[in-house]
Amino acid sequence: LGTPGWAWAYVEPVFRRLPLRIEPQISPNPISLAFLDALQDEGIPLERRLSGPRGKECGLFRTTMHQGRRWSASRAYLQGNMPPGLTLRLDTLVRRVVVEEGRATGVEVVTEGEVSTLQARGAVILAGGAINSPQLLLLSGIGPGEELREMGIPVRSDVPGVGRNLQDHLSVGISWKATRKVTLDGADTFLNLLRWLLFRRGPLTSPVAEAAAFLPDDGSPDPRPMLELILGPVWFANHGFDRRPGSHYTMGAVLLHPESRGRITLASPDPLAAPHIDPACLTAACDAERLLAGLRRIRHIGAHKSFAPWRGNEVFPGPGATTDEDLLNHLRAHAQSLYHPVGSCRMGPASDPMAVVDPELRVR
Ligand SMILES: Cc1cc2nc3c(=O)[nH]c(=O)nc-3n(C[C@H](O)[C@H](O)[C@H](O)COP(=O)(O)OP(=O)(O)OC[C@H]3O[C@@H](n4cnc5c(N)ncnc54)[C@H](O)[C@@H]3O)c2cc1C
Repeated sequence: LGTPGWAWAYVEPVFRRLPLRIEPQISPNPISLAFLDALQDEGIPLERRLSGPRGKECGLFRTTMHQGRRWSASRAYLQGNMPPGLTLRLDTLVRRVVVEEGRATGVEVVTEGEVSTLQARGAVILAGGAINSPQLLLLSGIGPGEELREMGIPVRSDVPGVGRNLQDHLSVGISWKATRKVTLDGADTFLNLLRWLLFRRGPLTSPVAEAAAFLPDDGSPDPRPMLELILGPVWFANHGFDRRPGSHYTMGAVLLHPESRGRITLASPDPLAAPHIDPACLTAACDAERLLAGLRRIRHIGAHKSFAPWRGNEVFPGPGATTDEDLLNHLRAHAQSLYHPVGSCRMGPASDPMAVVDPELRVR
């Protein structure tokens, strides 16, 4: 991140101490394995653990799963493992952080219509996610002064970076029909459920996106992976809400370091109103160019001989989409978030006017 104490070497040991279970996939799909064969033929090394800091690699994702069952945050932290002194207040909405003489002293909450204030003995830790954390800071009078005044919110601290710098992993896919019924489409059968219940095996243990490659830009001296290619042995469009009969597999290109920047702003001073989210996707031209290169790479990999036993016709966007313009139209129409919004309360040194928190996570 470019700030002291946040390099992978520092955070990895912390991750390792967390009560997480991260285990290899139990029943990877044969099409995911074909994808990895094709990538290795392209000279991309196969790694057992994908999360390392290497530049170019491919492999199967490991999953937050224990013995075939999803290992959720609730199982990890709460069920039988509740940290001492922790009280959870369910169905409680934080309306704002209370700020007195420049210090956060508590939070104002509403439970079943009752508003009350919880006093902090030590500190208030705000962890509302990339959308709601900036919303809560803005509701608390911490943010761009002009914007707060327009909403009629008293300015406690004029911090121009709150809600700015929003970025996300944008992805776009190509789907093929599978000639054999091995994919996850229609895998939710009674037999597969039984297999999962009795043996904790089979397609119901799949994380859906099963395999990936991480790739730096071709010919660039920057070793960081800029593009991720993923394979899901399933029809996947419109966040999985669109269904389509038959068996399919989908490869996606994911932008790992987008240059476009979006923003979160208040739509209303009412804490119950959703904030306004402007993801500003593809506003930087290089983002579309990288995804376009990713789509071309996917087509190339999809034509590899390892897919021969399963490969039917390309159905989305379809073989008719051949020119850059066709593929750009496809990505403008169908690129979607891969659900990793970050950056809206940016961390940075005192010299960074757009930093919201310092390297110790204290709000400026
Ligand atoms: C469909 C999907 C798939 C994903 N897959 C992966 C994956 O495979 N791997 C991966 O690493 N990441 C994945 N992610 C991303 C990952 O879930 C997020 O990065 C992560 O949860 C962010 O954690 P967080 O604590 O910042 O925010 P969150 O997990 O969003 O937690 C914020 C919490 O604050 C609460 N909250 C917000 N506002 C208020 C308020 N005013 N009052 C009270 N409570 C409030 C919310 O209810 C929520 O519980 C996925 C996300 C989605 C949506």
